Amino acid sequence: MKRLFGFFALIFLIGAIVLMSEKAPAKLAHGSFALAISCMDGRIQELVLKHTHELSGADHVDNITRRGGILRIFSEHNAQLEEDILQDVAVSVQKHQSEHIYVFSHEQCAGYPESEEIHRAGLHRITRILKKRFTDCAVESFWIKRNTDEDWNFLKVDTIGQR
Ligand SMILES: [Zn+2]
Repeated sequence: MKRLFGFFALIFLIGAIVLMSEKAPAKLAHGSFALAISCMDGRIQELVLKHTHELSGADHVDNITRRGGILRIFSEHNAQLEEDILQDVAVSVQKHQSEHIYVFSHEQCAGYPESEEIHRAGLHRITRILKKRFTDCAVESFWIKRNTDEDWNFLKVDTIGQR
């Protein structure tokens, strides 16, 4: 009886090792991803990447940048451009398995020179559009307030968690 138990314990152990060894290389080769969507403004790029790394804990940050970020595009109601951006997001979510999407908008934006109120309303809307399309992702948005060109405050606007 003891021998039989030992035999099954060994089979279980071998099975567990095989399963783990199959999973391990995929994670090493790939690493985890998160997605940042922001304006192309050079003053905020490094900070956006750093912030996304810290918030998500992901190994890599995919980074979609446009002038005025995603807000300008979605304010112009150009369905083709909107879909193109959503396809960029889809690559990060489906091919890289990004589980966290962060959307940023900033003060003194040359690409989308609107008031803080309009930026915040846009972030609010975009957060919901992304969550509706990418239901398994957590989506967060931030308003980045300028103190100096080297010092920016990240203020959270929305968080919609994972399913
Ligand atoms: Zn900008």
